[in-house]
Order: sequence, then C-alpha cells, then structure tokens
Amino acid sequence: MTQEVRVRFAPSPTGPLHIGGVRTALYNYLFAKKHGGKMILRIEDTDQSRYVGGAEDYIKQSLNWCGITPDEGPDQNGDFGPYRQSERKDIYQKYVQQLIDDGKAYYAFDTPQELDAMRDKLKAAGVDNLTYNAITRMTMKNSLTLSEEETRSKIDNGEPYVIRIKIPRKDEIRMNDLIRGWVMVHSSTLDDKVLMKSDGLPTYHLANIVDDHLMKITHVIRGEEWLPSAPLHVLLYQYLGWQDEMPQFAHLPLLLKPDGNGKLSKRDGDKHGFPVFPITWDKLGDQIIDRGFREDGYIPEAFVNFIAFLGWNPGGEQELFSMDQLIEEFSLERINKAGAKFDILKAKWFNEQYLRATSTESLADAFLAEASKEGLICDLNKATAIVNLMKERVTFGYEMLTKGSYFFARPKDYDRKVVAKKWTQEAVKVFSAYANTIATSDTLTAVAAKSNLESVLAEMNVGMGRVMQALRVALTGEAGGPDLMQIIEIIGPAETASRINIAIDQLPVKD
Ligand code: GLU
Repeated sequence: MTQEVRVRFAPSPTGPLHIGGVRTALYNYLFAKKHGGKMILRIEDTDQSRYVGGAEDYIKQSLNWCGITPDEGPDQNGDFGPYRQSERKDIYQKYVQQLIDDGKAYYAFDTPQELDAMRDKLKAAGVDNLTYNAITRMTMKNSLTLSEEETRSKIDNGEPYVIRIKIPRKDEIRMNDLIRGWVMVHSSTLDDKVLMKSDGLPTYHLANIVDDHLMKITHVIRGEEWLPSAPLHVLLYQYLGWQDEMPQFAHLPLLLKPDGNGKLSKRDGDKHGFPVFPITWDKLGDQIIDRGFREDGYIPEAFVNFIAFLGWNPGGEQELFSMDQLIEEFSLERINKAGAKFDILKAKWFNEQYLRATSTESLADAFLAEASKEGLICDLNKATAIVNLMKERVTFGYEMLTKGSYFFARPKDYDRKVVAKKWTQEAVKVFSAYANTIATSDTLTAVAAKSNLESVLAEMNVGMGRVMQALRVALTGEAGGPDLMQIIEIIGPAETASRINIAIDQLPVKD
C-alpha cells in the first residue's frame, strides 16, 4: 500500500495572513486532495513574544472564506493532536533531551551581554560571520566548554540557559527540493541555532521538525523564505534518527511586487491601493485596519483562482478553474522556480469572469438585499433588469448599485463635456417633445421608448446620433453606460419625462 499523503499548513499567529500564506495553504490543500490525502492545520505559537490575539481566528476565517477546509486541526478531530504547539510543550522535552544525550545539542549559559561582547570581538577582528557556531562556541559559556559538574551545578542553581544544536564543523548537507532540485549547503555556513529557549519552550525549528515527524507529514510545502532553514531541518532529522522518514520539501516561489523588483509587501498594497490580505484585519483596535479581498468585493472562487495562478499554471490556454478543477490539475512539477509578479488587474479580470458567470437570479437577490439596506425602493423585477444590464459592465457586484445610482435617483451632476458639446437648441426641442409624448404613459418598453423617440426625431428631421448622448446625460448624468432605452424602461416614462424637464431647466444650451 502506498503511503497516505499528509501535508500541513503551519502558520504562526503573529498577525493577519498575507496573500502568500493563503497561497501556501491553497497549494497544500490542492496537493492533499489531488492525492486523496490529508491537510493539517497546525498553529505554531511557541513564540510568546510574537503572539497576536485574534490571529488564529483570522487565519481560520480566511481559509474558510477561500473554501480551504483542513482535515485535521485545532477545530477538527484528528489522531495526531493537539494541533496547537503551545498545547504540546511536554512533547518536545523528550526529543531535546535525546539530542543532548547523543551529543547533538548542548546547554548554553551566555548572557545577552556576553553574546554582544562576542560579536563585538569578532567584528573588531574583521570577521564577517558573527554567529554562534562550530568555532565561536568553543570560546563561550556552554556545556562543551564547562565541565560536567559546572554545567550540572549551573542548571541546579536555576541559571538561565538555552539549548543549542551542535552543527558539525565540516559537513555537506544535501536535500532534494521538489521545486528547486538539489540544494547543497556546507555546515560551516550554519549557526548553532537555539532549539529550546530559556522559558522552556521550543523554537520554531525544533517544534516544527518534531511535529512534522509525529504528525506523519509526507510533504512540506511552504514559502521560499524557509529554504535557508531547510538544511538545519535536514540535519535535525538526521540527528533524531528520522532521516528515512523525512518528508519531501517543496519551497514555493516568492510573490513579487507588481514591477517584479522585490518581495510583495503590505506597503505595496497601500501604495497602489490593493489588498494583500484575504479578509480585513482590524484586530488592533481602530488605528490599523488592513483591507481584505473579501471586503473589496472579490468573489472567493475568483480570488482562489487568481492565487492558484501565482506561481503555478496547468499549461494550456484555460485560465478559469473551479476548486475541483484545480485539484484535478494541480501538480508540484508545474510550480515555477521564479518569483510570481503580483498583478491586481489580473485579480480584477478573474472577478469579472466569475461575476459574469454567476446566475442573474442570485445576483438579483443580492442586489435587492443591498438596495433595501440602502433604503432604496426596488423589487425583484427591477433588480433583475438592472443586473442584466450591469453585470457585464462592472468588476465587482456592489458596483451594480454604486455605478447604477441613476436607476433610483435623478443625477446630481451632469457630465460637463457632453453638456458643453451636445446640449443644443435642437436637442432641447427634441427632448421636450419626447417628454410630452411619453409623460402620460404608465409603462414603456425599451422598444416603445425607442420608436417614440424615432417618431419625434423624424418629425423634426433630426438624426438620432445628434441627440443620443445628450439624452443620456439628461437621464443618467453620464457620458456612457448601458443601453439607454433599457434604462428608460427601468426608470419608467414619468420619471424619464421629469428628468428631461429638470435638465432643460438646469443646463445651459450651447450657442
Ligand atoms: N510557522 C512557520 C510560518 O509561520 C511555518 C513554516 C513551515 O511551514 O515550516 O510560516
């Protein structure tokens, strides 16, 4: 029997989940589902100093909005829990002790001042690499330089200590990354990272490896920023005797700024006016509110489709993929090595496609609800007619209402350019006659609205093209928009006539 695929998304609850984190979660999910495996949500919260309340909840809500449902996690049952590292404290002790007993890790008692002094000394001697490593550790206060008795008595006296990994001085560490291929690192470039902090909590490195092992993770799919840590992780697997069960690694390409220069950051979003978070984050009180794709009006399926393509594509021309289709098509082989440029126009394009593919019925229901929230008088017929006219012309669903305010109220402003050029004596004459013709009708279909206008124009011997834009401005205030006769049908003949008369009163006629 082949081994069940088990992957994990392992965020630290230090703030809102960046779009890159959502992509990591999505790829893990797609990979798990594709292979009939499991996706685990593990909350990596051992760093108390970086813990931010509300972040875990935010992460879960974001995944939920995207339709990414973990199979195991803090809210799901699973055989490998608990799934929050702060609830697993006791588990790590045993493994760090094993490393110490095997001579793979050691106690270090250096104070922050002593560590600073070491760095200053190295700097003064012109050394670039200012780390605690195979060379410098022999000059520091740790269980490698102290006798066994000294070490024991310091521990017994309650002196603070950390536990560090003992990196070999000369060794080559190799790993095969599923996206980048072979990566080889010389151990002299690594430092003796802390595995257990003085508060008795493990660091990310130790907890991550122990949990991946105990949770039987088969593939570690995560952001490229973790690639430099991977050799240390490989070494930890070897030190713990788990090298034969080591998961396979796949480090995802970076998300780049729109111009491709450097990593996408929150500041880029602020600067160019687009979100970099899936949903709004406002947990820090009212001073800092980071906007989200959800609140900006994106359809979750469009957002998922968009982020799926940031660094991956299935080949071929097709770009629109449902979650099920993404699962079907997904493969790690088709993930690019190069960073993916973030392009908000593409996100908008996806949203437009999904909006257009949404049924008029469900958009009309949503429109009606929104309109009544705004206190506008609308019924399902009117909502349906507006949706039919507007859905091809907007990027976000809410714009059908914001850009279609003229369906409910006469324009407050009139496009000045059109007025200056097109509001002529001739147009006013036509409109005034047209208003008279239709004012007393109860309803007017678009077809009738047009034939009435044509009759008036024929009588006065004026071409339709000479007055249409001016009529649009009188009714909507705008220079362009959907079919004007359909607009007249929706707002009705009395309202049309009244808007024409108001415009005639208010607008200066071109001489
Ligand atoms: N806790 C790490 C993070 O916040 C997890 C990295 C990993 O997947 O190994 O991204």
